[in-house]
Parts: sequence; structure tokens; C-alpha cells
Amino acid sequence: MLNFSSESPEDPNEHSLPLVRCPAIKSISGIILNKDLLGTNTHYYHGRTIPCDDQTCPACDDGLPWRWHFYLGLWGQNSHRTCLFEMTAKAADPLKTYRKAYGTLRGCHLTAKRVNSSPNSRVIQQATQADLQKITLPAPPDVLGALSIIWNIERPSISVEGIVKDAPKLHVQQDPELAEPSFPSNRNTLPSRNPNGNVS
Ligand SMILES: [Zn+2]
Repeated sequence: MLNFSSESPEDPNEHSLPLVRCPAIKSISGIILNKDLLGTNTHYYHGRTIPCDDQTCPACDDGLPWRWHFYLGLWGQNSHRTCLFEMTAKAADPLKTYRKAYGTLRGCHLTAKRVNSSPNSRVIQQATQADLQKITLPAPPDVLGALSIIWNIERPSISVEGIVKDAPKLHVQQDPELAEPSFPSNRNTLPSRNPNGNVS
């Protein structure tokens, strides 16, 4: 059957954003679009990073360690592109200090750099106020929506439950049918030996 309509179909990837981590050699910088960090426990499981569903988590069942990750929308001043930037709990410390001082992360200029050229070496982040006199920032991206696409989980099954590590904690409940996500996203991440996110 042919279907015609004057309206375009809803874009299932409307909230899609590329996931970016601090590169091994070059630094990365941009302006933060979201007011706050959003974090959750993750595992490196079957070759990719997945969120830890603390009720029915196959990675926890297998005894794998977890690591806390924060996410936020980072906007490139020159590229005018927005990415979903991932960082560990430790690397986010300067952002927590910034948020306490200014009440929001939106408009914060973030620079992230590794201490050496190893792709898993510690990340140092710097947070300063961006000069927004001549810049109109785009709207903050839907971080939960972008994560749900990356992790291939239903958007409504994620909610924010309380504050952990000084930031909103996601409660992620995976649909069992989607427990084996169909597309890879985090091939660069190596398994963490530290179960509590205290190493970048
Ligand atoms: Zn788990």
C-alpha cells in the first residue's frame, strides 16, 4: 500500500548526537549547553558500554565492575556542531565546582585533555566562563534522548532518580528484548578495573 502525507514522518533519531570522549593526543574544547551533568553507572559489556540497570543487569550478573560516567551537550564554537560528551566522575570535578559558583554549566567553556598520549590515561578538565557577548548558544540537547538512542533503550524507560555523586542519577531500565543492543557505540572504551569510577 502506498502512503502519502503532507506531513513528514517523525524522525526516530531526532535526538541523536555523536558520542565523544576526550581524545588521546589532542585536547577537546567547547561550550557546555546543558545546565547540569547527567550521570549513571555503566559497564563495558560484550564490546560496548551499556548502562547498569540495577534490577536486571546482565553485566552485574556476570560480576563485571561498573564505572560512573557523566554526559552533557558540548557545542563547538567553530564547527557549530553539538556532541554528547562523556567523562568519568573524577574528570567532572572542576565542573561541579563551576556549577556551585555560577549555578549552571550552560555557557561554561570546557577544555579536556589527557595527561599523556595513552587513550585511557587520566583526563584533566578546565572550566572557565565563555565570552557569550557575540555568541547565541543553541538550545540544550536532550541528553536522555541521545543516550537512549546510543544504548538502544526506550526513552520513557529512563528517568532521573535523585542525586548521586552531586549530580542527577539516571534510573535506566532496559527492555529485556533490547538487552543485546544492535549497534555498537563505544568501541574505544576499555574495561574498567575499578568498580567505582575513581580513575579517569
Ligand atoms: Zn550492572
